Amino acid sequence: MNKGPDSLVPSVYLKTGDETPWPRDKSFFYLLTGSGMFICRNNRFFHSCVPTTEWPSELAGQKPFCIVAYPKLAQRTFETVVGFFDEVARVFSSEAAVLICWNDRSGEIELVVPEQVGIVSASAAGYVSALEVEYEIPVLPAHMRLIGDIHSHVDAPAFASSTDITDEFYRPGVHLVVGRLSNEPPEFHCSVVVDGVRFKADVSIIASGYERRRPEDVPAEWFRRITTRVGNSAQSKYDKLRPDSADCSGDNQDLIAADVDDMNAAVDSSVPECLRRTTTSQDI
Ligand SMILES: [Zn+2]
Repeated sequence: MNKGPDSLVPSVYLKTGDETPWPRDKSFFYLLTGSGMFICRNNRFFHSCVPTTEWPSELAGQKPFCIVAYPKLAQRTFETVVGFFDEVARVFSSEAAVLICWNDRSGEIELVVPEQVGIVSASAAGYVSALEVEYEIPVLPAHMRLIGDIHSHVDAPAFASSTDITDEFYRPGVHLVVGRLSNEPPEFHCSVVVDGVRFKADVSIIASGYERRRPEDVPAEWFRRITTRVGNSAQSKYDKLRPDSADCSGDNQDLIAADVDDMNAAVDSSVPECLRRTTTSQDI
């Protein structure tokens, strides 16, 4: 951006290399560099370049936004995932995780259950409780894209724990937590992460619906991906961090629209006009 002196828009120059020329004819301008924004001046007595965190007041404000158009898990599939979590909790007292992938070839959503280790704590009295679940993202074929994940918190609340927030920072997509498994329905907590920013979301952005868990539908091979071990920590992370803790402000941005069908009604001036119309999502 580089406007004349009579324009309301300030002159902003981009420094793209050491050879970028210094605009000597500008008495005042901004320089956007790899080191941040600078205020620059030329006058009779000095030429200056000073870092600033104050952006040009002539610029319009912008709020973060995220508009989602994820394909949705069929209700029965989602209920099977919850059934899987329920069985793993019942048998192993452990958390479990399922990855949500998009198959570019078939145009369908697919679940991938990675090899995983449920970390549990065991008290002297023999009481076993879940701590966390560890897994590596498997190498996926080029036509398979990871778009999200679901994991359980067994009977703890559904929320983004500090471990979840750290794990998901560099993993863009939908992150769904299923907690309070002793209840039916259990508790759901859904968020979308992009470029390290978390957006609150409703479970309906990724699941078509939920009535009851279906452990009877769980493929046997899913259970073969689970092993457990007793962790070192004698204290559950849930004892250290509660969802109402001030430290657990993981979901700090509202999703502009939880569903693209609602998008036109939900957009505000932060969303460019060209993004206000799109195709609708579909149940898969
Ligand atoms: Zn978690």
